[in-house]
Amino acid sequence: MHFTGRTWRPPYEAHSVIIQATSGCTYKKCRFCNLYEDEDFHMSPLSVFEKDLAEIKQFQPYTRRIFWTGANPFAMSYENLKLRALMVRDYLIKCQTIAMFASIRDIQDKEVWQLQKLRAMGINGLTIGTESGDNDTLELAGKGYTASDIVEQCQKLDAAGIEYYFVYMTGLAGRGNGPRNAVNSAKLFSRLNPYFISIDSLTLFPDTELYRMKQEGRFIPAGEKERLKELQILMENLQIRTHLFANSSSNFHPLEAYLPKERDSAVQEIQYVIDTEQEETMAQYRNNLKSLG
Ligand code: SF4
Repeated sequence: MHFTGRTWRPPYEAHSVIIQATSGCTYKKCRFCNLYEDEDFHMSPLSVFEKDLAEIKQFQPYTRRIFWTGANPFAMSYENLKLRALMVRDYLIKCQTIAMFASIRDIQDKEVWQLQKLRAMGINGLTIGTESGDNDTLELAGKGYTASDIVEQCQKLDAAGIEYYFVYMTGLAGRGNGPRNAVNSAKLFSRLNPYFISIDSLTLFPDTELYRMKQEGRFIPAGEKERLKELQILMENLQIRTHLFANSSSNFHPLEAYLPKERDSAVQEIQYVIDTEQEETMAQYRNNLKSLG
């Protein structure tokens, strides 16, 4: 198998077969992110992609779900996505789902009829690092799109029947702004149909713009308990049936909940952590983290 550079997949894709479709990120401007700073965006050459598919066919011919790595393979044009999706079908006859990371920007250049065709070819399960649905937070984070862009592009995915997952990052709005971010994001997410929402919490690394802003006093990070309260507010304001995962390493306390059914017990569980843990212990946990996620 050919993997170059950083290979990153979400925890919930642990059971998917992974293959490199692209490497690097087309954007590299999010102020909290240092994941792909040393890599330019590349598509894996078709011949290399095909060799990897042949290898998967040899060892895992009954693969049902495949995850294309790269920060945003969905940035590829419709034609390039189509070529690769059809190639997956040629090699892995049982494969039902081709999942990958996608940015809101990557959906913008695709028409609904193209998304429908891609869905029919097996592309489904897009992880979208929205991080927030609040305009001020999106701008602070340098995401390069607005809340209304999220609605407009995800409605296209809904129309095409493509399943998608959101990522929300607690602490991203800075000290004192978590409640606003949570309420506005919950309102926006509730207008859409994320199959689940994955929660990360901001960790600042020295080679990021947000870290520099902190050093210069232009960004004040939220405290750890403040972030847990933000998560409670997010859950309390979500008005959709969805599954929430807060179990990546950036979360001090791992949590999973089906909403709205388990909302009250999840909010209480977080309250117990707020009441019983020391802020310093939680801050120390974050200081020991080595990477985002
Ligand atoms: S968060 Fe995602 S889109 Fe933003 S720079 Fe990092 S990899 Fe690229």
